[in-house]
Amino acid sequence: MASWNLRLGRYFGIPIDIHWTFWLLLIYVFFDGVANDGTPAEALVSVIFVVTLFACVVLHELGHALTARRFGITTRDITLYPIGGVARLERIPERPIEELLVAIAGPLVNVVIAGSLFLAGVRLPENAGQPTALTRTDFFSSLLLVNCVLVFFNLLPAFPMDGGRILRAFLAMFTDYVRATRIAAAMGQFMAILFGFLGLSGLPMMLFIALFVWLGATGEAGSVEQRFLLKDARVRDAMLVNYSRVRDTDTLGDVVKRLLSGSQSEFPVYDSTTERAVGLLTRNILISSLASLGADGLVKDCPIESLGTGQAKRSLIDAIQEMREASQSCLEVVDDNGVVVGLLTQENLAEFIMVRSAMKSGA
Ligand SMILES: [Zn+2]
Repeated sequence: MASWNLRLGRYFGIPIDIHWTFWLLLIYVFFDGVANDGTPAEALVSVIFVVTLFACVVLHELGHALTARRFGITTRDITLYPIGGVARLERIPERPIEELLVAIAGPLVNVVIAGSLFLAGVRLPENAGQPTALTRTDFFSSLLLVNCVLVFFNLLPAFPMDGGRILRAFLAMFTDYVRATRIAAAMGQFMAILFGFLGLSGLPMMLFIALFVWLGATGEAGSVEQRFLLKDARVRDAMLVNYSRVRDTDTLGDVVKRLLSGSQSEFPVYDSTTERAVGLLTRNILISSLASLGADGLVKDCPIESLGTGQAKRSLIDAIQEMREASQSCLEVVDDNGVVVGLLTQENLAEFIMVRSAMKSGA
């Protein structure tokens, strides 16, 4: 969907995009303004207000991105969604103190904006408790209010909010990173349940936030755990060494025998004349081809999958990432001289992660 996003430009070398759903929000605010007995001019002020609000969000994200840059981490891009901004950092800072500073820099920008407005004589609107009245009070009072809300909301100790990262970084100073993430994620899930109850008791917007927080907390815990378990692993550590291959001239009946007699469920397919790998025959393809071609059908008539190639010495995390992007389920592993030394399959990978995880918790 990248082409639907509007590129605002590059600031400090970081591309800033507006997600297409953002336009829906502006159109909604405009028509909502007109429908509530506002003149188009008043509705336009509401639209300008939303744009100004999102400028504050961009500054917030730039706060994260520019602090990360100080630690040598580049930001791929910043995207604005109707519910806020996301700065995609290339990686998460390794030292807890760096993550803490990167996470806190965003909300700090809003503190500075709110502080400047306050010093300029702007005060919070009197009807601050009613969000519907937000855009119909004084422009700058509302701007002060939303910056305060941004600070408060982002400091909630729940992933994917900044407060979750701050909490994790703080905990990581006393315990290991995986456990710190687990505690912070559990805290996030607890907050999500709390938001869920608030949502059910008459604040429907909170249900949406609850879901957002729950998914963020759960996703963060899972990916961090995997990243840490596989931190120093190479492709050769997780690859299958004893496995059978099939030739494109083999019959499906032959392959079925091998499927049933061993634990292997994915077979690299070799061209019988060139002796080179041409693809991958998975269990699913084998079964469906068996139904259509019969046991005498040939492997070369099956719709085989593509098979990637990976260096044995490569980092396992990078290899997994590449397999995901190319939607390959298997990698043929080669050594420095290009000689095939193994096969990296999803099943083996899952086993490898399980074993590492068990070893870590035993240690
Ligand atoms: Zn932030």
